Amino acid sequence: MRRSVVAGNWKMHGSTASIARLLDELKPLRIPDVDVIVFPPTAYVAMAVHVLKGSSVAVGAQNVHSESDGAYTGEVAAEMMADIGATCVLVGHSERRTMCGESDEVAARKFAAVRRAGLTPILCVGETLAERETGRAEAIVARQLDAVLRTTDAATLKSSMIAYEPVWAIGTGRNATPADAQQMHRSIRSRIGEWFGSVADEVRILYGGSIKADNAVDLFAGADIDGGLVGGASLDAKQFIEICRAARHGHD
Ligand code: PEP
Repeated sequence: MRRSVVAGNWKMHGSTASIARLLDELKPLRIPDVDVIVFPPTAYVAMAVHVLKGSSVAVGAQNVHSESDGAYTGEVAAEMMADIGATCVLVGHSERRTMCGESDEVAARKFAAVRRAGLTPILCVGETLAERETGRAEAIVARQLDAVLRTTDAATLKSSMIAYEPVWAIGTGRNATPADAQQMHRSIRSRIGEWFGSVADEVRILYGGSIKADNAVDLFAGADIDGGLVGGASLDAKQFIEICRAARHGHD
């Protein structure tokens, strides 16, 4: 049985004051059978680790560099995130693929760097609207997955996570239908199965894209949907907590 997970991506939002409030509200959160992770902006990761110490909410980084050390001004190594107490890293988020030109190969190198540092990567994959409308969604997602699958091994993959995030659903208020999301999650799981057999049944696959408190139960109901990666709604503690509760119900 895969444990549910809900991750909150705070993107480049917040200040010391607003993030302190959010962390205080999340600190007591403890939902049986649901892992909760927050991804604050890099500037606040250490603060989040400090405030959430002893709580059941984990802290992750939104991005790291693919190298462990070196002359990379402005970059952060996965080892540094591990050193300050982060436990997870988002890899290949569509905003980084689009705005920073991160290719499938860069995402694969970052995935490997995260594992090297002993952290858990959440590999984000997803198609654009044009790719969906031309019937290429599954092929695009398979290509993004393959870049990582061909450079990893079964043990590594087993303890990593995938987030299916259709690009057209991120921050748009337009979520995938539960049926379409489930179909893509099934396809992702079978792609993993083609490379690594039964390991596919152990990999947690999250849905992301305009999850809200009022659509989370339906989105999490799919048999291959193990929780969610939440952007906008994760900045509102009350709504985020409701979404975390919905992940539990999704597998009742
Ligand atoms: C995201 O940024 O990963 C995301 C899913 O954003 P939103 O929930 O706002 O669509």
